[in-house]
Amino acid sequence: MNVLDVRRLSTAYQNKVVLDSLSFSVRKGTLTGIIGPNGAGKSTMLKTLLGLQPKLQGEVEFFGKKLETEKKRIGYVPQRGAVDWDFPTNVLDVVMMGLYGQIGWLRIPGKQHRQKAMEALDKVAMTDYATRQISQLSGGQQQRVFLARALVQQADLYFMDEPFAGVDAKTEQTIMSVLHELKEQGHTVLVVHHDLQTVPRYFDQVLLMNKKLIAHGPTEKVFTTDYLSKTYGGAIQWLEGGFNGRHPVKQ
Ligand code: ADP
Repeated sequence: MNVLDVRRLSTAYQNKVVLDSLSFSVRKGTLTGIIGPNGAGKSTMLKTLLGLQPKLQGEVEFFGKKLETEKKRIGYVPQRGAVDWDFPTNVLDVVMMGLYGQIGWLRIPGKQHRQKAMEALDKVAMTDYATRQISQLSGGQQQRVFLARALVQQADLYFMDEPFAGVDAKTEQTIMSVLHELKEQGHTVLVVHHDLQTVPRYFDQVLLMNKKLIAHGPTEKVFTTDYLSKTYGGAIQWLEGGFNGRHPVKQ
């Protein structure tokens, strides 16, 4: 079964089209890297899929149904910069926000909810920071809190917008092992990602886009010099040591 079906999706800001008739489907239990240059429309695509940005035309279905009935099954980790980190709240409360779908907005979280949130913080190595104000966290710690919030939500489908931006290597490893674990458990994850070198190691599916969809499918079939050149509009140089012994670098 497909968890996501997108047909001829287009989006514009004012009169400028930034997504041009994208069509693709995503299967359950896959981990997809969404790849494309700056301004390719990756963030806009996530926002449009999630109804946060109006679409010009096209159809989107989650689990074969409309977004409105499936929202609780979908988790979204926005870019870190899209959030007001000065908001006076602590780490545990932010993680518990991920549980509101289960608790209900007006009910007070119980002991078992707190325990779930603490377990999620443990997975991302953040238990020591549970009572810390979020304004006092480093970039990598903020990203891990976001991830813990997504984890407690136990969504079937996750969208993450550049979860590795500005985090250190250790945090990146923590995030990646959590994403692989989610996939092993049958969750579906789509991640906007920048670093071409890590793509073959991180993702089993790749979606290449630049306003239009360039290619989408298994990493070994889609993550090729040809498709990357089409995506980035120029020559891609391959270095030793990455995919099939080589990895691509934009010239
Ligand atoms: P990416 O995530 O791939 O870097 P974006 O989705 O952020 O790309 O942006 C796609 C295009 O839409 C860019 O040309 C960007 O300048 C433009 N854009 C993004 N957000 C807005 C906005 N709120 N208003 C007008 N144009 C926007």
